[in-house]
Amino acid sequence: MPQGAPGTPTLVGVPFDGQSSYLRGAADAPGKIRQALDSSASNHWSESGVDLMAAGACQDAGDFQFSEEDALVAIEAAVSRLLDQALRPICLGGDHSITFPIVKAYAARYPNLTIFHFDAHPDLYDEFEGNRMSHACPFARIMEAGLAERLVQVGIRTATGHQRQQAEKFGVEMIEMRSLPAYSKLKAAGPVYISFDMDVLDPACAPGVSHREPGGITVREAIAHLQSIAGKLVGADLVEYNPVRDLDGMTATVAAKIVKEILGKMIIE
Ligand code: MN
Ligand code: MN
Repeated sequence: MPQGAPGTPTLVGVPFDGQSSYLRGAADAPGKIRQALDSSASNHWSESGVDLMAAGACQDAGDFQFSEEDALVAIEAAVSRLLDQALRPICLGGDHSITFPIVKAYAARYPNLTIFHFDAHPDLYDEFEGNRMSHACPFARIMEAGLAERLVQVGIRTATGHQRQQAEKFGVEMIEMRSLPAYSKLKAAGPVYISFDMDVLDPACAPGVSHREPGGITVREAIAHLQSIAGKLVGADLVEYNPVRDLDGMTATVAAKIVKEILGKMIIE
């Protein structure tokens, strides 16, 4: 188990893509993102001026181990163990279904959680193709269980009539792509959790995703929104990077860049 001091940002891989509706492959993402993070093509500093490799700045807890059938329960339990050590996990998915068990673990400790969710998709389906645990449904599960005080979605550009009704029903603050930028909306009084789906980015920036949705944000716009967040950052996930769809590892490099900026933000707070 990791041994970092209280509050230490802790990377952890969640190699699970068993709830992907279209293409598998995201389970292989954590190792590829680590490779990009370790690449000597760049250095270990965030744009905000933080040395991510300074002693005690952050740590890597490796990958969670579990069988596919036990994934939901195992992911919640593994995140709970990290939170019990007062660490701040950054989970590298995996498909977006992992966010429901992760947030379950958070909600038990942070009853007034704000989630800033970056995604092309609202992921608010009550069920998708008969499956309530699909990666298209995690935020419906989170909101119906009352696990978050606020859910703010950024970059949405695929909302269906049903998902708009769901957003209304759950009081979701859905900020659609056409309304960006949304810097002033990313302020929270209480603890903040970031859920970053790589397909919020335009496919030109990040082709390595299962569901390429044109008209998305640039890497620069993603970083600007992350940097504008105000609140106590208690954890994050980065999901839906699919190496099978990547071109020459470019999306892994982008995923690593996003992780670096989230880490930098956590470390200086
Ligand atoms: Mn998603
Ligand atoms: Mn998505």
